[in-house]
Amino acid sequence: MEGPSLVLTCEEFSVFFKERVIEASGSARIPFDKITGSYLKNARSWGKHLILEFADVTLRIHFLMFGSYRLDDPRDGREPKLLLEYGDHKVYFYSCAIKELPKGWEKTYDWSIDLMAPEWDAPQALANLRAKAKEQVSDLLMDQQIFSGLGNIMKNEILYNLRMHPETKFAELSPAKQRALVRESESYAWQFYEWKKENVLMKNWKIMRKKICPRCEGPVCKKKTGKLQRWSHFCPHCQPRETTARRRVDVQAAHV
Ligand SMILES: [Zn+2]
Repeated sequence: MEGPSLVLTCEEFSVFFKERVIEASGSARIPFDKITGSYLKNARSWGKHLILEFADVTLRIHFLMFGSYRLDDPRDGREPKLLLEYGDHKVYFYSCAIKELPKGWEKTYDWSIDLMAPEWDAPQALANLRAKAKEQVSDLLMDQQIFSGLGNIMKNEILYNLRMHPETKFAELSPAKQRALVRESESYAWQFYEWKKENVLMKNWKIMRKKICPRCEGPVCKKKTGKLQRWSHFCPHCQPRETTARRRVDVQAAHV
C-alpha cells in the first residue's frame, strides 16, 4: 500500500478509537495479551508503515507487496497475521510484516521525508536528490529515504505527467525539471489520496496498465528499470530520454 492509501486507512481506523478490543490473535510475533482488552489510541502512517498505538503497545504494520487488511471479510483458509475483534466488527490483516515498536519510537522516525506528513520538507527532498544525481529517476522516486510513501503506481503516473523517461538520471534534468519532480510528487500524492477516497483511482490512471498512450495514441512500453528492477510503464514517444538539445530548449523556455 502506498502512502496516500495508508492516510485513508488511518482515517478509517478512527472509528475504533473508543472501542475495546475484545480479543487480539494471529500468527504475528507480537504481545497479543497486551492488546486484548485495550483501546486503540491513535492510528498514524509514515510512508508505507501503518502505526497503531494501543495503551501499552505500539505496532508497526508494513503491507509489503501484497499485504492487505479486511473489515468483516476474512479470506478463506488463511490465518491472519493479526485479527482484532471488536463488539460488532473484526479486522483482519494478511501478508504483512508486524512488529512491536520500542518506547520512544517517535524519535526514530523522520517525518520530514514522509510525503503525506505536515512536516514534509520539499527543499530537503531536492537536496537529497542532488546527492544521488547519478541515479535514475525511477529508482529515486521509489527511494523511501527521499519520498517515503511513494510506490510504483505513483512513480509511473508522476513520470508520465512530467513527460520524463524512467531511466533518465537526475543529473540529466534541467534545474526546472528537477524542481518539478519534487513538486509533482507531492501534488500527485494528494491527488492519489482524493481519487482513492472517491473510489475512482484506477479510472484516473493514465499510463498504468495501458496499452495505448492516451496522449499520442502510441504503444506503451513496459520494462523493468533501474537497480530496483520494478516495472515501469511509459510512452517512449511522450517520455523520451533527455538529450542536450532537449535540455537547451528547457533552459530557453525557463528564461522566457
Ligand atoms: Zn505518448
